[in-house]
Amino acid sequence: MKNLSFAVSWFIPSVWCVVGFSSLFAQEPKAFEHIDMYCPSHFGNTYEVFYENEMRDAISPLKEYGCQWYSEWFDMECCADLATNKLNAFSTVLWQNVRMHYRLAQEMGLKTGLIITPNWTYYDQCRTEWKAAAGERIIGKQLICPSIPQARQTLLNNYDRLFSDLARDGTTLGTISFFAYDWGGCACEKCQPWIRTFIILVRDIYEVGKKYFPDLKCNLVGWWWKPEEHEIVADWVDENAPGMIDTCFLHIPYGATGPADVRLPKGTKRGAFVHIGYSRSDQPDEYGQFGPVVAGNRIKTTLHNLREAGADRIVCYSEGVYDDLNKAIVCGLASGKYDSYEKIAVDYAARWFGTDEETSRQWGEWLVQWENPLDVDTSASGAVLAQLMEKTPNQSRDNWRLWQWVERQKLYEINREILSSGDDWTEERLALVDRFWAQREKIHRKIWGIGVPVYIFHPEFCKMPWYDSWAARRPEEKSRVREPDER
Ligand SMILES: [Zn+2]
Repeated sequence: MKNLSFAVSWFIPSVWCVVGFSSLFAQEPKAFEHIDMYCPSHFGNTYEVFYENEMRDAISPLKEYGCQWYSEWFDMECCADLATNKLNAFSTVLWQNVRMHYRLAQEMGLKTGLIITPNWTYYDQCRTEWKAAAGERIIGKQLICPSIPQARQTLLNNYDRLFSDLARDGTTLGTISFFAYDWGGCACEKCQPWIRTFIILVRDIYEVGKKYFPDLKCNLVGWWWKPEEHEIVADWVDENAPGMIDTCFLHIPYGATGPADVRLPKGTKRGAFVHIGYSRSDQPDEYGQFGPVVAGNRIKTTLHNLREAGADRIVCYSEGVYDDLNKAIVCGLASGKYDSYEKIAVDYAARWFGTDEETSRQWGEWLVQWENPLDVDTSASGAVLAQLMEKTPNQSRDNWRLWQWVERQKLYEINREILSSGDDWTEERLALVDRFWAQREKIHRKIWGIGVPVYIFHPEFCKMPWYDSWAARRPEEKSRVREPDER
């Protein structure tokens, strides 16, 4: 029934259609050549826990907004080797989930890509003698050293298995895109410089992939790379594997709205990896810790800068459905279907909340203000929201796109009370924090249904301004949330 109701809502000639298609006739900026939504199933995020119909609902709008590609990765954290484990093992279930996502994406007409962190592996393959050496920018516990022949062969065998499964499923993998860091790397002597070891491993895994997918394209993601590492890679590729790299998706650091100008291998296209999972880098709302996010202005500025730099290919990094509005914004602007993120927010409201033209316009204004969440006057925004809800038809409890924003409003009302109630931890203020956690729990569990988080939902990963003071006050406070691991 969920699919049916979704399909019906999609095809109803609604205000969304009128407003949406009218925007097609606006002056269109040049469309990006490659728009890829990377939705990793991991960390207990919504992609990892959603069942099939929920996932279909979550990614169905992508193509309409102009997205062309859907990418995944297979996170082996806590996973045993697929080749040896049993039917009910976590790795089997997780890998089946990823394969299901590819099937859904292909059914929707999206092309598919796999993101790879090439020396990341299953926990039961992390033999002591194979373990990667720790070092700068090298994070992750399940890394093995590709300079050890047996360990290297194990990595290649692992990917052979994954490619083989996807080919058997009928997934037509179009790209593989490699991260050198996060997670990845080995600081041992033989692997130095890591980036050269990395690019040779890239070539070897790419060769395995081409056995199953002859038209496979090989991409790089420059996340955390230094300019000198780009030089090493460009030189190595030009000399040893000219033309091997189709696109390099460059790193845009937090707070920045464009990548550095670095040298790429000859013929490699310039792109960027665009993080859509936070509003502004000075706001504590990364990864849906505190509800849905919007970053209209940041995304608009980033896409403008990328167009100026001739980087017309993007992989958008999404960590769950909390960034649903940002998905619409980045795809709508990059595809040239829209010329303003404000219009996208208005159409989003009309489409998902079922509101009339004027109410949708007001919803649009209300939504985009949350790019600066700590600055929102929650008293005023709460009053506006109450008026909007009186004119909002689609209030089914299944409509997470609506309720995630309503509950976020409540969360920030509490947060504002905490921030404006002095610095002393009075009983009243402690009670406010209790309410805050309860409200956050409601968003995570009742709206999104997320399960056991690995770490991105840990309160210490993304903190409210009062968090350190609160947590330091009593040691027992920390026991109320999970301790961070020793990553
Ligand atoms: Zn090594």
